Amino acid sequence: MDFQERFATEEACREYLFASRWPDGFRCRRCGGSEIGAMHRRRLLWQCKGCGAQTSVTAGTVMHGTRQPLRLWFWAAYLVATHHPGISAVQLQRQLGIRRHETAWMMLHKLRQAMVAPEREPLKREIEADEFFLGGYEEGLRGGRQRGDKALVAVAVEVRAVARDACACRSCAMPPATRSARSFRPRRRPARSCTPMAGRATTA
Ligand SMILES: [Zn+2]
Repeated sequence: MDFQERFATEEACREYLFASRWPDGFRCRRCGGSEIGAMHRRRLLWQCKGCGAQTSVTAGTVMHGTRQPLRLWFWAAYLVATHHPGISAVQLQRQLGIRRHETAWMMLHKLRQAMVAPEREPLKREIEADEFFLGGYEEGLRGGRQRGDKALVAVAVEVRAVARDACACRSCAMPPATRSARSFRPRRRPARSCTPMAGRATTA
């Protein structure tokens, strides 16, 4: 079954969120009770029969407090996660068939933020680092160091012995390339070696 078939209705999305939040069945966060008193389907709230505490299935997710249908969010998340190389707000708006660009932009922004793993650790052992300019072609600028309107981005990659291992990588936008920016160092110093990247990154 493909993704859109599986999550074709609000009910299917709600059930999925419910099962993700309570894989062993409903459990009240206040009293630990397992009986559901009332459900507010439209507000996505489940109420404990014992103490009346309400829990939303979208609490702590990007969908919390949303006015967009859940199936739109599900489909947006699927597109953002699977579209290579990355999806733009304009593309997302078109794919979702929504009228307002601002809505597509907000959804994309929230989904991107949510995709950064919160438990990620600083890079360790051997690290390769470099910087590059991110941005398109600009009339009148020549040479790889002509910044123009481009953003300077620093990238650091953890070197791993086994090539097939998923690569840990961090990147961040940098202030203008002044002397202080060039002395950028990771917050925690990597163990011993910090080698330059083989083959410099070029202007994007
Ligand atoms: Zn309760």
